[in-house]
Amino acid sequence: MDLKTDVVIIGAGGGGAVLGLALSRMGISHVILEQASGPPQGLRGEILQPNGQQLLQELQLLELLPKASYKPVRYFHFRQCGGTRLCTIDYGMLPAPYNRALVVWPNVVHQTILERHQQECPGQLSFGTRFERVIRSEGRIIGVEGRLNEQTIRVEAKVVVGADGPFSPVREAFGVPYALHRYHESYLIAMLESPRAFDEAQYYVGRKTILGLFPAAGHKAYAFYMVASNALEGLKARGVKALQREWREIAPEYSPMFESLQDWSQTAYMGTGRVKAKTWVVDGGVLIGDAAHGMNPHASQGRMQAMVDATCLASVLADCFAKGDWSVTALKRFEETRRKQVTMLQQLADEEVFFWNTGNPVLGWLRDRVFATMDHNPRLKYQVLMATAGLRETSPFGWIDRMQAAGFLPDPRANQLPVHE
Ligand SMILES: Cc1cc2nc3c(=O)[nH]c(=O)nc-3n(C[C@H](O)[C@H](O)[C@H](O)COP(=O)(O)OP(=O)(O)OC[C@H]3O[C@@H](n4cnc5c(N)ncnc54)[C@H](O)[C@@H]3O)c2cc1C
Repeated sequence: MDLKTDVVIIGAGGGGAVLGLALSRMGISHVILEQASGPPQGLRGEILQPNGQQLLQELQLLELLPKASYKPVRYFHFRQCGGTRLCTIDYGMLPAPYNRALVVWPNVVHQTILERHQQECPGQLSFGTRFERVIRSEGRIIGVEGRLNEQTIRVEAKVVVGADGPFSPVREAFGVPYALHRYHESYLIAMLESPRAFDEAQYYVGRKTILGLFPAAGHKAYAFYMVASNALEGLKARGVKALQREWREIAPEYSPMFESLQDWSQTAYMGTGRVKAKTWVVDGGVLIGDAAHGMNPHASQGRMQAMVDATCLASVLADCFAKGDWSVTALKRFEETRRKQVTMLQQLADEEVFFWNTGNPVLGWLRDRVFATMDHNPRLKYQVLMATAGLRETSPFGWIDRMQAAGFLPDPRANQLPVHE
């Protein structure tokens, strides 16, 4: 089968589906090839940060999320294992109306975007279609070949977009050098029932221990439990009761919630990695989302950044199509616009990995001290929250801020906050 379009997108994940929708609204034709047989169904965590909410609002998608599927959460409490509170982050500090995180049931955001795409761009997303190779002519990328039911699909396009996740075959086909780092720790995710009112997120940190409990709609809660990447089999062999005991020791006040974990089928296990692609653009090709810059989930920004990439690339492509120029120079504006924030978030997430995931007692002591100092320093709390919320591009901490956060220097500006209208 041979198709001809303006842009061919590989992958209908967080970035690809939004890109397709945004392009179509700008009058640029596209085709999406997705290897999965349909929209995702499995368990996965979903926290919509303020920048993601704003972006979905601008695309008129936020209002399409079923009200019963998400819960606005204002307070995130960081605690030592056992319960002692270290620091509370209040999303109410942020400019309204996105002064909350939205905790959403698994896949609802994604399915909403895909449904909208199906309505606005019928027939332009081909499920069950695996990308196989790029087609080049005179050194330039001019399309792709994929497989659907043993059939070869050939799509000719001005621009090929790799939105195909951290292991991106498109990135390989472009020949872009990259570094893929797999972290030692991954996450067991569980969907629990909350027998009593549960409105504020809890995040427990200890020696090589992290347990996050996030309130979800309908008396449900997500548990995110850090597990060494090679320790899942051992955890399962010890059984659900043993896991409940571990969680009770970490967060005794939520013991009744842990009783609702009955079976491993209520859980999912997600590996974590970081991708640093040397360049995100080639002649006639672009990488977005995890294919370009996968990051540790501590940033809580992976899906947001994939969506921001998508809308940014759509407007760069609108210019390219207006001028008839899809060269690497024209496409480079996308990377120039996006690199700064993504690099900052990758660094921030890695610093969090270093201090939060640690088993070293000195680093653990320093971590807890930073949390405790920040609890009394609205300025630093605001800066780090703005970064996690996706609302700033520069690092939340300079060197003086770091010394102040660690409690080694006083902060005369601790109570200075910007005034929101
Ligand atoms: C434990 C964990 C928790 C996370 N929590 C959060 C969170 O709270 N908030 C957040 O924002 N992010 C979170 N993330 C990250 C987030 O899931 C990703 O950053 C985001 O999905 C990236 O979007 P993407 O479009 O780049 O890639 P993906 O969403 O991975 O989509 C890639 C798509 O490409 C398809 N594909 C791959 N190869 C091919 C091929 N050969 N042919 C055709 N299709 C192909 C795949 O099937 C997939 O659908 C978390 C990640 C982990 C591991």
